[in-house]
This record gives sequence, C-alpha cells and structure tokens, in this order.
Amino acid sequence: MIKDLVSSMELFDIAKNNLVGGVNSPVRSFKSVGLDPIYFVSGNGAVITSVEGRNFIDYVLGWGAFILGHADEQVVNFVKQYADRGFHFGACHPLEVEFSLLIKEAFKSIDKIRVVNSGTEAVMVAIRLARAFTGRKKIVKFLGNYHGHVDYLLVKAGSGLATFGLPSSKGIPEEVINQTLLVEYNDFEGIERVFDRFGKEIAAVIIEPVAGNIGVLVPQNGFLKKLREITSNYGSLLIFDEVITGFRFEFGGLSNYYDPELVVLGKIVGGGLPIGVVAGKKEVMDLLAPLGEVYQGGTFSANPLSLAAGVATLKKLKSLNYGYLEEMAQLFQEGIVSIKNRFNNVNLRINRYGSMMSLFFNSEDVINSQVAYKSNRDLFSMLYKFLLEKGIYLPPSPFEAFFLSFKHSINEINYTIDRVEEFFMNM
Ligand SMILES: *Cc1c(COP(=O)(O)O)cnc(C)c1O
Repeated sequence: MIKDLVSSMELFDIAKNNLVGGVNSPVRSFKSVGLDPIYFVSGNGAVITSVEGRNFIDYVLGWGAFILGHADEQVVNFVKQYADRGFHFGACHPLEVEFSLLIKEAFKSIDKIRVVNSGTEAVMVAIRLARAFTGRKKIVKFLGNYHGHVDYLLVKAGSGLATFGLPSSKGIPEEVINQTLLVEYNDFEGIERVFDRFGKEIAAVIIEPVAGNIGVLVPQNGFLKKLREITSNYGSLLIFDEVITGFRFEFGGLSNYYDPELVVLGKIVGGGLPIGVVAGKKEVMDLLAPLGEVYQGGTFSANPLSLAAGVATLKKLKSLNYGYLEEMAQLFQEGIVSIKNRFNNVNLRINRYGSMMSLFFNSEDVINSQVAYKSNRDLFSMLYKFLLEKGIYLPPSPFEAFFLSFKHSINEINYTIDRVEEFFMNM
C-alpha cells in the first residue's frame, strides 16, 4: 500500500492519524514555518531526494551528523560488512575498543568513555555522575541551551522548545526542576551571582560550548574560561555538551582548550546512526558501574552498526582538512553579509562558528536567548518557503543550526546565496 503513495501530502495525511502530529520528533512537522513536512527517501553527498523525486541541497545533514555528506561510500561499505554478520550481541565487540581509541586520540581531556544510544541519554549519565562525584544536587544550565529531553534540563531549553515557544514542558514536576539554576548565555555577572549564592551546592555547570539550538550563539571572549575558573574554585564540575560541536570544527572539540571534567558527544560520532557518548576524567567516570555505584546500562549501547558508522567516519575525518569547511562557511557568510549590505533595510543576520551557522531577522546582534527570541519569525518563514521551493533545505526553524559537509562545494553555496539574493530582489 505504502508503495503506491507517491506524495509527501498523501503520506502525511495517513501519518496524522497514526503518529502524534504525524511525526516522531516535533520540529519535523514544519509547523513553525507554516508548511507540511517533506518525506525524504534518499541522500547522496550534499543532496537529499524527496518521495516526489525532487532534489534539495541539504544543510540540515541529520541535524549535523553527516559531516561527510549522505551515504559516504566508505562509511556505507563498512556498515554493510558489519550488517552481514548479525546486528548486535548485547555483549563486548572489537569495534568499541577501536572507537574508544579514536575518541581519546581526539580529546586530550578524556580518560574514559561510555557509549550509549543518544545524546539525551549521555547527558543524563553525565549529570548523574556529577551529582555522585560532588555529593551536590544543583545544576547550572544556560537559557536556550538544549541538552536533549532530560526532565530536569527541559527548562528554558532551545531546539523544539524554542521553536514552539514553550518555556518548559508539561509533565515535569516542580520538584524535579527546582535543583536546576538558569543563567543567560554569555552573562558573566549572572554566573558570578549564581555561584556567590549557591556555589557550594552546585554539582555542575553544563553548557553547549557553541550553542546550536537557539540558532548559533558564539561564546564571548573569556566566557568559557570564566566557567572553567569558577567551577574549579567551587569544586563543581564543568560539563561540555559537545553533541553538535564534537568533531564539527576539528578532529576533537572545544574541550581540548578548556579541560572540562565531563564531555558529552553524539551526532557526528555515530556517523549518522544512533549514538551518545559520555566521557571524561578517570576519577569521575570510574564511579560508573561495574566499577562504581552509579548505575547505567543499555541493551543497544555501542551496537556494532552505530560503531561501524562512527569508526569509519572518525577515521576519515582524521585525514581530512577542516580548513575546507571553514573556507566554504566563510564564503557562505560573506555572501549573506554582502546581500545585507546591498539591501540595507534588511535585518538578515548570520551567526557562524566554523561550519555551524544560523540565519535570523533581527535588528541587534544575537548573543543570547533574549535577543534570539526577538527575531522576526514571519520573515524567516517567507525566506524559508522561497528557498525550499528553489531546492534548498534548511532546518524548518530559525532556532536550529545548519551545517556544511565535506561534500558541499562552492557550487551549492553560490546557488544558495544567489537564491537568497533573488528573495530580497522580489520582496
Ligand atoms: C541533539 C542534541 C542533544 C540530544 O541528542 P539526541 O541524540 O537527540 O538525544 C543533546 N545536546 C545537544 C547540544 C544536541 O544538539
């Protein structure tokens, strides 16, 4: 039956009766740009193809996971080899050893790792470890930072929550979130204030070292250093949620410059299959069972298929020049800035850190969630629809970052910039 359905519209009509809101993750509904979802059936390099056979330049890239582009030949072949041998044994497997060596080679702050099935799960474990290690309860998080759908961190989170304007989620008791302290991103005084008041009760500060779930927020000079210093002074742990940023800008991450006790990875390290990694200093990580008394387990943790995709991706990344991504991303940014300068009544802004970017309509520079929430959503939706019609697929929300892969070339970027220009000429 499904075989005969050739349009996204027909599929979504049926989906709405069977899947909640027709989707399995809220942003996929395209609700925030006032459209219906597109059903994709294949991807190759920088291009994905819809069920209707339309091609799109993909800047979503599985929410950043496909840094090598879709269906990378080496990654696919490696996964196929393992698929033929049985998917999973729920037991030890040689690839997990190889994977751990690659992660440790890339991150000098990491002594030990544990592989789980999603970023959300890895964050949960990181927080549990921080609380066990310090014997404290409170967690500091930043407004607009998203750390997966962990109950006690779903307070002023970004991503789908920013898109839908929910301050937090229903179904989470006050008691669960009253140990979570909120600080505005890039707010040096805010972090001082919260430590002055609660310092000795704070188990950890968790941060996206470059925030990517409320658009891209770049940390201001000295902000991450400030967090490193203040957490050390108070005996709290620093947790870098590098689910997006890990392996995005270099073979490693921002943890290499700030030495956090715990690092959370996901997305890229799974090569596009489900994964999460919690990693860090030996003295903290060794609290996990079976060595310690902090429990964590998982039926599908470190399954061979996710690790095959991850290992093949990391091995390839080791030999690639990230300068290429930086160069392409710079061209993208320059293109947008030059359009903005030519149409000087246009408030279009691009936030960028390496090959991680976001577009906003805003009269001010976007440096924290307050400014991000003030962006003009209607203009974004108009631009979004226009670009989609021209075969350019951006995340269907101004609050999600978009990315480049090693398969994006100057051709795709020029085409995209020209279409953005066309949009403003028509306006
Ligand atoms: C995507 C994301 C997560 C959650 O990872 P899932 O695999 O979706 O559970 C956590 N933190 C950050 C920064 C993310 O971008």
